[in-house]
Amino acid sequence: MKWHEMGAEEAIEALHSNDREGLGQEEARKRKSRYGTNELKEAEKPSAILLFLAQFKDFMVVVLLGATLISGLLGEYIDAIAIIAIVLLNGILGYYQERRAEKSLEALKELSAPQVAVLREGEWRKCPSKELVPGDVVKFAAGDRIGADVRLLSARGLEIEESALTGESVPAVKSVEPLYSGNPGLGDLVNLAFMGTLVTRGSGTGVVIGTGMGTAMGKIADLIQNAETMITPLQRRLEQLGKILIIVALLLTVLVVGIGVLQGHEMYEMFLAGVSLAVAAIPEGLPAIVTVALSLGVQRMIKQNSIVRKLPAVETLGCASVICSDKTGTMTQNKMTVVKIWASALEWDVTGTGYSPEGGFFRNDKKIIPAENKYLQQILTFGALCNSARLFEKEGVYALDGDPTEGALLAAAAKGGLPKDKLLHNFRILEEFPFDSSRKMMSVIVEDSSGKRYAVVKGAPDVLIGQSKAALWEQKQQILSPFIRNSITQAVHSLASQALRTIAIAFKPLPSQGGITQFEAERDLIFIGLQAMIDPPRPEVKKAIRECRQAGIKTVMITGDHVITAKAIAKQLDLIPAGGRVMDGQELSTLSEEELKDAADDVYVFARVSPEHKLKIVKALQSKGHIVAMTGDGVNDAPAIKAADIGISMGITGTDVAKEASALILVDDNFATIKSAIREGRNIYENIRKFIRYLLASNVGEILVMLFAMIMGLPLPLVPIQILWVNLVTDGLPAMALGLDKPEDDLMNRKPRHPNEGVFARGLAWKVLSRGFLIGAATLIAFLVVYNREPEQLAYAQTIAFATLVMAQLIHVFDCRSERSIFERNPFGNPYLIGAVASSIVLMAVVIYYPPLQPIFHTVAIELRDWLLVLGMASIPTFLLAGSLLTRKS
Ligand code: ATP
Repeated sequence: MKWHEMGAEEAIEALHSNDREGLGQEEARKRKSRYGTNELKEAEKPSAILLFLAQFKDFMVVVLLGATLISGLLGEYIDAIAIIAIVLLNGILGYYQERRAEKSLEALKELSAPQVAVLREGEWRKCPSKELVPGDVVKFAAGDRIGADVRLLSARGLEIEESALTGESVPAVKSVEPLYSGNPGLGDLVNLAFMGTLVTRGSGTGVVIGTGMGTAMGKIADLIQNAETMITPLQRRLEQLGKILIIVALLLTVLVVGIGVLQGHEMYEMFLAGVSLAVAAIPEGLPAIVTVALSLGVQRMIKQNSIVRKLPAVETLGCASVICSDKTGTMTQNKMTVVKIWASALEWDVTGTGYSPEGGFFRNDKKIIPAENKYLQQILTFGALCNSARLFEKEGVYALDGDPTEGALLAAAAKGGLPKDKLLHNFRILEEFPFDSSRKMMSVIVEDSSGKRYAVVKGAPDVLIGQSKAALWEQKQQILSPFIRNSITQAVHSLASQALRTIAIAFKPLPSQGGITQFEAERDLIFIGLQAMIDPPRPEVKKAIRECRQAGIKTVMITGDHVITAKAIAKQLDLIPAGGRVMDGQELSTLSEEELKDAADDVYVFARVSPEHKLKIVKALQSKGHIVAMTGDGVNDAPAIKAADIGISMGITGTDVAKEASALILVDDNFATIKSAIREGRNIYENIRKFIRYLLASNVGEILVMLFAMIMGLPLPLVPIQILWVNLVTDGLPAMALGLDKPEDDLMNRKPRHPNEGVFARGLAWKVLSRGFLIGAATLIAFLVVYNREPEQLAYAQTIAFATLVMAQLIHVFDCRSERSIFERNPFGNPYLIGAVASSIVLMAVVIYYPPLQPIFHTVAIELRDWLLVLGMASIPTFLLAGSLLTRKS
């Protein structure tokens, strides 16, 4: 079909749809089953079997399997089978961990997938873009990503960036007229819009002509499978660490084996011991557990309303030292209500709440009828006409489709008996120039029933005063004299200092023929007056700001709103400490980057700024060494969001462009959610540190017990298969449970972590080595006590060593929960850990007491009295160091 050659009407008819009702649900369902979901086919995923096999390509596992082969060749079948069983068990655990991590990351992708506005059964609805079918009528505006290929039905100043398809970085200007130019290229099809391209300006509607692989994007889908790396800095560092550990482990293993052979141990025995030790020393489970901890953390964050789009952000969150946050909707509720109207030095109070048309107008506490005051009536009328929002009633409640600022203006007009639908009987809207935060105004061209045309403009008062040359003042139109200008400015200040957001309304008559540009429409205006609305702060934000301050994180408000309004809200939120200051967009523009860098630390509120300023602010703060989190919602916010260390977008009001640039999406647009995300980010990092500490100390303990024994000329204190069991089975679950630990109480009283901090910072290396040393020593002592008592019962002494090692690790795991000491936290505070430790104890007991397993694991049932020795020795490493720490403290 040559859609571009058809008229819009013709196209929609050809698709058996219409632009008033859209498709019916039933019809949409049928079409979906005929055409499939509107998705690009993803590159083939590795199958479950491949993923399972991938678990065995790990270097150490290959070594182990080699060892199995040699054992088998030497006729040691029990050893060989046991090793295979353990390797398989480990592989299955690894497979499930990876699957789980992958699943939750996939779910995440789904959550942050764009929604589209679609007309179904006469009602505009939001739905995931994969639900679109041919014939669906969709609408879009600046910041949206087009959900499918569409034939445009209407376009208002519509510009779309199509570089992904055409390579052209300048946005294409779109229109609806049919084209007849033979075989145009994609870039020339100005009456079509393509799946995946971005609306950079204006708005439009269209009918879906192609979905999924049938779209222009689908045809080149293979080219654009974007493989975003989902690896965090810590994971990268751990990979490097892993390589170093392999070398260290191999050297130590060679040392142990060398000494063992010199001391007269059998070659085969030392070979297996060497392999087991190498496996013990290398924390091969670590990367998988890190991934699981990250993905489980990400799931917890979803429950707290933040969606992580880029995994590395989880770590960076813990380093954040400044949060730059929008005011409207993030710190405030974005539930606007007009409470005062001002014109020509007269002020009226407006009552009523929400978007309901109930409420009245009062002057000096006396109720008045708006129709009796010409200016009041005009402000209300123009406020409702120059407006792209819509109020509707559903089950007795008034709701808003659109921007709350505009909703408030519609509600105010309705209270004055001037609802928009009624006004539209008398006025026709000929053109609309939408609001954007850089211009800080919007305008419409209207024609009244007598054919007179006007430009109606609404916007930030200071901007509109600048664009006006006259004002309606004392019953007539007058030149905007310095006196009138001053009076208006004073009124703005007085309203703003009451934390009210003010919108000015102005207009000008136009000739009744001919078009007009946006620039022309918005200059030489006649100023009418002001509408002032409340937007109360979100109740939880004040506390969140305080908590951030305690956590060493500065909060900065960035707003397009008036300086005085911003300051008044900041005061209510207790945002500006003594010595802190407010800077406006004008001053910001005049400062060089260097000057801003010097000033930035003292500024807590940037007001009347444009989105372009945000980038400058981010850069200034970053050059001061800050790790900056920055929020935004519009198209113009995207560069700053991208440049910030943690770009944050809004789930409700955010555009697709902002969301895609961001690392984190706030589902509820709420500032307090940023604080929760930071807390969770810090916690995830600390938990990863906890199990690194646990696993490495355990490994150090295992190596040392073998090394000491070899040096002392003793028999092997642990049988290779026992070492494997400890490492690949009993260690894993407690480590996972540490990944689920709750944050320590003082987590948000600490300073942000330095982003370059190494894995072993803050004394972690010392903790690993000292605990590891003591675990090794305690195990060896327990072994020696029993071995000296009954030298002929070697297997019994080895079983004691095995039990002591496992128990020492399982006690030590509780110590790992705190940066300070085991006595700082309730040991029962993490139920997963209790469960994990219990199951590890059971797994240990099974190989000690279950007769069929005893020959395989070379174990002997431990007598009750010897458990005293085991537990006594096992608790020494933890309690000795923790105790010494306590005495040092007191
Ligand atoms: P934030 O605090 O998130 O930056 P903001 O809404 O205060 O949000 P902008 O959206 O950039 O910032 O708005 C800047 C100014 O433009 C507002 O103070 C207001 O005076 C004016 N304004 C806001 N919305 C509209 C609109 N829909 N039409 C006309 N003027 C508007």
